[in-house]
Amino acid sequence: MSAAGHPRDVVIVGASLAGLRAATTLRAEGFTGNLTLVGAEPHAPYDRPPLSKKFLTAPAPADTGLPVPDGLGARWLLGRAAVRLDPYSRIVTLADGTRLPYDGLLIATGATARSGATAGEPGRGQGVFTLRGRDDVTALRAALLPARRLLVVGAGFLGGEVAAAGRALGLHVTLVEAAAVPLERAIGVEAGAFVGMLHREAGIDLRTGTTVAEYRTGPDGTLGAARLAGGRLVAADVAVLALGAAPATGWLAGSGIEAADGVRTDSRLRALFPDGGVVPGVVAAGDAARVPQPLADGAAPALGHWSGAVEQAAAAARTLLLGDAAPPFAEVPSFWSDVHGVRLRSVGLPALADTAKVHECDRAARRLEVSYHREGRLTGALTIGRTSRLAPYRRTLAQYAVGRR
Ligand SMILES: Cc1cc2nc3c(=O)[nH]c(=O)nc-3n(C[C@H](O)[C@H](O)[C@H](O)COP(=O)(O)OP(=O)(O)OC[C@H]3O[C@@H](n4cnc5c(N)ncnc54)[C@H](O)[C@@H]3O)c2cc1C
Repeated sequence: MSAAGHPRDVVIVGASLAGLRAATTLRAEGFTGNLTLVGAEPHAPYDRPPLSKKFLTAPAPADTGLPVPDGLGARWLLGRAAVRLDPYSRIVTLADGTRLPYDGLLIATGATARSGATAGEPGRGQGVFTLRGRDDVTALRAALLPARRLLVVGAGFLGGEVAAAGRALGLHVTLVEAAAVPLERAIGVEAGAFVGMLHREAGIDLRTGTTVAEYRTGPDGTLGAARLAGGRLVAADVAVLALGAAPATGWLAGSGIEAADGVRTDSRLRALFPDGGVVPGVVAAGDAARVPQPLADGAAPALGHWSGAVEQAAAAARTLLLGDAAPPFAEVPSFWSDVHGVRLRSVGLPALADTAKVHECDRAARRLEVSYHREGRLTGALTIGRTSRLAPYRRTLAQYAVGRR
């Protein structure tokens, strides 16, 4: 520790959105010690949201690099994964054996795409894809160019965007969803049905209440079709599995930190041991972290949102510098998704609600406004094509969150 009580050696594992934001915050708030960013991917930090949107449909792959401030003064170890953490001797070990001692560690390793285990599934690169990083999407883009039929499994935010991109590219798109409507768990039946209508109006063959039971491959081993539960056969040259994401925390196994389902943190983003004790000098942020949400009365739901990663990273960096003097995290979660030329946006935690109130539902104008409530109290709101309506909801939720942190 320096005289100011700041750590001298900060290691950030995960050199992407949350990692870069944490590094930027540390420097902006006066950290002058050694700063090392470790990233498993060979790429400099880049943004993921465009990958399921314009990156797939633009004539040339867009550059989604995140701006790195001049003079950040960091050591970048890219293309080098962390494989082990010893929180007692405070050392991170990389796959090549490099040992990085730290007195402040920020875990920002994000998430990986979940994949299914379906009968007959061809190997990767033979027509079946998952999406998380730029390399995944570059490979998918190349496969979509000559393709005619796209199958998307999972009609969540990512699956919906990929299906929309497939339609924009002129492909025949089948979108398969196990629930009765897309996004039912995340945003409820009313809003989910509205999104389903958008998909159908765009010409997507949306199949709900079903799953892929089996893949069929051609003689060369590449994807040819999928059989849905119930027997229907769907021809497909390319399938995208959009089945959600799992925290990339496998490298913490054996560290003693509670991380199987994401790194559990306290309200200041400090990593926790299973007994609730704070891991000295270690904070976590972004998709790798499970952060208590005041709006959920301190429960820590997995969110996986861009804005949460940014806000948590800044808060975690402050905790490394200020310890107990850092304010508890009380940001209101928010999310956006772009489908078929309209923007869906939500604030708060719609998934907590027991009641949804539809304030506007104009199918022709493609506009929707829904508020979500639990036991009469606002938990979230969602708009489609009506982003400006969210501000009052956000204000109310922010007051609740600050009052409950
Ligand atoms: C295709 C796509 C579209 C999205 N669209 C939206 C959207 O429209 N709206 C929205 O709100 N959110 C969206 N998201 C979610 C948003 O991008 C994430 O919430 C955000 O990227 C999380 O940032 P992060 O830094 O925590 O994790 P990541 O961005 O996943 O970064 C983690 C980094 O850590 C690295 N890493 C992993 N393990 C190790 C290791 N052991 N050692 C070293 N490095 C490691 C990874 O390679 C990665 O570079 C989207 C995500 C994807 C994948």
